[in-house]
Amino acid sequence: MSSRKLTVAIDGPVGSGKSTVAKLVAAELGYMHIDTGAMYRAVALLAHRRNISYSDAHALGRIAKSAKMSFLRVGAEQHIFVDGEDVEAEIRTPEMSQASSVVSALPEVRAALVEKQREMGRSGGVVMEGRDIGTVVLPWAEVKVFLTASPEERARRRTIQLLEQGVKVDYRQVLAELNARDERDSSRDLAPLKPAPDSVVVDSTHMSLGEVVDKIVELVRSKERLL
Ligand code: C5P
Repeated sequence: MSSRKLTVAIDGPVGSGKSTVAKLVAAELGYMHIDTGAMYRAVALLAHRRNISYSDAHALGRIAKSAKMSFLRVGAEQHIFVDGEDVEAEIRTPEMSQASSVVSALPEVRAALVEKQREMGRSGGVVMEGRDIGTVVLPWAEVKVFLTASPEERARRRTIQLLEQGVKVDYRQVLAELNARDERDSSRDLAPLKPAPDSVVVDSTHMSLGEVVDKIVELVRSKERLL
């Protein structure tokens, strides 16, 4: 059996379960997990802290370029570090969710982060998740998955996740915000959220987490056997 490590791209909308799935798939395969959404959130956080407008493309492009971003293990989890600081908790608030989707529409920000992401994915053995990984960041990825679920199911999962994190939210508000982010992410001119033509679309509305993970791991294993 081949031991070559592949590149796996997982894209999908808010609440599709991408992050959880990507984390488990990476652990199963012994690959590195790269959460590109965390990188857009980090840029939004830096803008917020420095009082820079979320639409100041020039300033945010410079921030995205100069910030040193890395993913490091903290206990059983992986956290994002920016210039050596663990910002994992701070980037997960509802405010940063909305702000990240605003700053992610800026071409200067995307260019800077895509460059960092390609560097991270260069040598394979990665599961990279986001919105444009199979289409723009790593179009050469050997396995591409577009993970989705109905908006109602995604809002339900996201509400539970936020409540578990101690964030007070209600389902209707989560559904409205999710629809707003979906709309912004799918309608922007640059790298809109859409399945790559050569991706496998996995609709997880009626699938358990374990079933989704098994399906993707099997896709990777069968590709590994062919190469
Ligand atoms: O995946 P997550 O919800 O953490 O991503 C935060 C925001 O970053 C998304 O709403 C999206 O606008 C943006 N994003 C992106 N491209 C990626 C990953 C995330 O535009 N590859």
